[in-house]
Amino acid sequence: MEEMRAHIDSCSPNEACGLLAGTGDVVRSVLPIANQERNPSRFRMDAREQLRGFRAIEEADLELVGIFHSHPAEVGSQTDPEPGPSATDIREAAYSVVQVIWFKQQGLWSARGFWIEDGQVSAVPLQVMTGQ
Ligand SMILES: [Zn+2]
Repeated sequence: MEEMRAHIDSCSPNEACGLLAGTGDVVRSVLPIANQERNPSRFRMDAREQLRGFRAIEEADLELVGIFHSHPAEVGSQTDPEPGPSATDIREAAYSVVQVIWFKQQGLWSARGFWIEDGQVSAVPLQVMTGQ
């Protein structure tokens, strides 16, 4: 969570994005990817970095288990009325993995998980594990 947060802070006020690698449904590694759009309400992963990320995941014998990005606009604002995936997020969800989206509420960040498939969104509970 801290690694994702650090990347989100470094991209602020633009959206941040990255890959989550692991095994099963456990994340073992966070791979920050540059947001090619450099935009506060959109993200597109830098294609070269994304490819490098996929290779690193394979070389580490891990799988892609999630994709994360941030919504830097305050929840409740016009840009981000609800803490959920945007219409673009739903339309562009391309991988069958959990989407972790970071939302800002009253200046504080929270992360929520979503499964997006065929235009349908369902919440996925996230559990924070520490120790290694
Ligand atoms: Zn989004």
